[in-house]
Amino acid sequence: MTASEILSLIQEKNIQMVDFRIVDLPGRQHHVTIPAAEVDEDMLTHGVAFDGSSIQGFRGIEESDMVMRPDLSTAYVDAFTAVPTLDLICDVYEPSGNRYNRDPRYIAQKAEAFLQKSGVGTAAYFGPELEFFVFDDVRFASSPSGAFYEVDSEEANWNTGKDTSPNLGYKVKNKGGYFPVQPTDSQHDLRTEMVLELMNAGIRVERHHHEVASAGQAEINFRFDTLTNVADTVLLYKYIVRNVARRYGKVATFMPKPIFGDNGSGMHVHQSIFDGDKPLFYEEGKYANLSKMALHYIGGILYHAPAILAFATPSTNSFKRLVPGFEAPVNLVFSKGNRSAAVRVPVAAVTPKSARIEFRTPDGTANPYLAFSAMLLAGLDGIRREIDPTAHGFGPVDKNIYELPSGEKEKIRSVPGSLDEVLAALEADHEFLLEGGVFDRDFINTWIEFKRSTEVQPLALRPHPHEFQMYFDL
Ligand code: GLU
Ligand code: MG
Ligand code: MG
Repeated sequence: MTASEILSLIQEKNIQMVDFRIVDLPGRQHHVTIPAAEVDEDMLTHGVAFDGSSIQGFRGIEESDMVMRPDLSTAYVDAFTAVPTLDLICDVYEPSGNRYNRDPRYIAQKAEAFLQKSGVGTAAYFGPELEFFVFDDVRFASSPSGAFYEVDSEEANWNTGKDTSPNLGYKVKNKGGYFPVQPTDSQHDLRTEMVLELMNAGIRVERHHHEVASAGQAEINFRFDTLTNVADTVLLYKYIVRNVARRYGKVATFMPKPIFGDNGSGMHVHQSIFDGDKPLFYEEGKYANLSKMALHYIGGILYHAPAILAFATPSTNSFKRLVPGFEAPVNLVFSKGNRSAAVRVPVAAVTPKSARIEFRTPDGTANPYLAFSAMLLAGLDGIRREIDPTAHGFGPVDKNIYELPSGEKEKIRSVPGSLDEVLAALEADHEFLLEGGVFDRDFINTWIEFKRSTEVQPLALRPHPHEFQMYFDL
């Protein structure tokens, strides 16, 4: 869209306000709202000033003036504002007119340009599958641990502090969520409304369903797209999901493990590379019909996985999801079927064009621009260095990993166990991210320092509710 087309849209839809949005380091959107009457071609082209010092991970106070310049192709008529409002996703610039190196969207754009320069292909496609919980707002707010939906265990009852038996009324039984019809699926209409709003926003939704957790876990899938576009879509998706939930006094969360003892929420990411309209990940007759390029891409992902996870599972809570037994991927292997494998290769009904790999470890606390960029760079490094995943002990493993004979089972590496560990992994392994100047050292150092000081350390310093159970009476 051009600036004058946006101005016509403003007229046509009687838009009163224009919302300029940027994304911070952790992946939250921030906005400045400007009356539409004040918005002209100049502002749409050059952007608006904002104070970068208050955005998490951005600049220091002494150099705070920055500019957000809209990407006009992202225009979205907001469905959740009291007056007609047009939302625009922006790129961040320094006052000098240079792009800002810590703008996550800039990194995503550089990653795409790097792919094209590399000669490997013309486009990489990403299909993230976001899972989330919908909770009742009031009950959630009143529960310090957040674990108010019982999972029929003594543990959960201790957490909620409530006697949850007998199960009177129409409550969903433990693991009753996946996926009986209504009325057991009490969130069907809510998900449908989310889907309609996503479609109104131009997002191509493919399906929705209840997920496996005891109650209130959902998944809504949309069509894959190129890296920056799909990361923009992830932000819009979260915005819409949260705001539809809010219409009904509910709250949606993408936190990976809100409930102890039940399934967590992931953001599996399907990936493939094309040259024009030629799919490059397919080769009939090979393992899972995967081409050599696809295998090397997998090799890159698994080889660099601990470092990638500093962006793809970047929260302390992420590692509470990555435990055995909940379909979460804990094994650093690839596989045609295994849901506990970090990389799964979907084989059902796959055509050359739909051949792809699924990296299952990421979750919804990832900043999508950074996480997808890190995955692409790892995959490209795998292709460039011809990293054979099998030679590195990454499988394929198609048997049930828990039933492997001892000796074999022990050889399988697991994903790291904490945010601290993946930050250390990133510190030790980030040259592949610096290729083509996609990430720079300032960004990597800022990220590590930011995550340590604002997440790892504050959590480690606080007494945890579960410590009271373990130690209070000692
Ligand atoms: N919720 C599971 C996870 O944590 C995944 C379930 C599925 O395979 O869709 O990744
Ligand atoms: Mg799922
Ligand atoms: Mg999946």
